[in-house]
Amino acid sequence: MDRYEIIKEKYKIVEDRVRNAEARRADGGKTRILLATKTVPADEILYAASLMEDALIGENKVSELTEKYDAVKDAAEIHLIGHLQTNKVRKTVGRASLIESVDSFRLAKEIDRVSAETGIVSDILAEINIGCEPAKGGIMPEDTDRFFEEIKDLKNIRVCGLMTMAPKCEKKDDYRRYFNKTYRIFLDICEKYIYNIIEPVLSMGMSDSYEEAVLEGATEVRVGSAVFGNRIYK
Ligand SMILES: *Cc1c(COP(=O)(O)O)cnc(C)c1O
Repeated sequence: MDRYEIIKEKYKIVEDRVRNAEARRADGGKTRILLATKTVPADEILYAASLMEDALIGENKVSELTEKYDAVKDAAEIHLIGHLQTNKVRKTVGRASLIESVDSFRLAKEIDRVSAETGIVSDILAEINIGCEPAKGGIMPEDTDRFFEEIKDLKNIRVCGLMTMAPKCEKKDDYRRYFNKTYRIFLDICEKYIYNIIEPVLSMGMSDSYEEAVLEGATEVRVGSAVFGNRIYK
């Protein structure tokens, strides 16, 4: 099998599993698949995008976002999902249609400033460190309200929801409590701060946990290695 066929088979498996989990969701909500394309060459991204009804990809690094941007921008919507340094905001604003990894007031303020200069409003997600892991980025759950209060007056950003990276779990089922905890914060945020957003985004779940995330209310799952990885035989 060539690379494209492998990608196609794996994507179909992910898509099937997402649709099956969606059907079992208590709230009847929908989940969009984002393909995490770090290290994936543009030709494979274009092929994968051609398989998707509503193609969506996520880059981790600003350098990869800028390198592949021209090649993929007409084929897929592009989000930034990795850590963003303030000195790279200028390269990101206007390229990523959603910056999912905003985890400080300082970063939000810089995105707001650059967006104002560019004359646009940038959509962002607040990244929550749901496992309260000190080594990881993300707003601590107990600081979520403070973050939303702090950014209230920034006119050139629009917060559309939450993103989280759950701690690595041994058993798939163990992911569910982290995702459920994030979902509950999401509901609270939706009610208090982002009631004007028509389709709020809850981005959670990766290759090892996307079905659990769907079951717990994810509106978006970010899947990389399950589609592009080298592990062909399970
Ligand atoms: C790489 C990455 C993913 C996808 O991870 P896989 O385990 O390869 O599915 C999701 N989210 C972020 C932020 C990532 O960096």
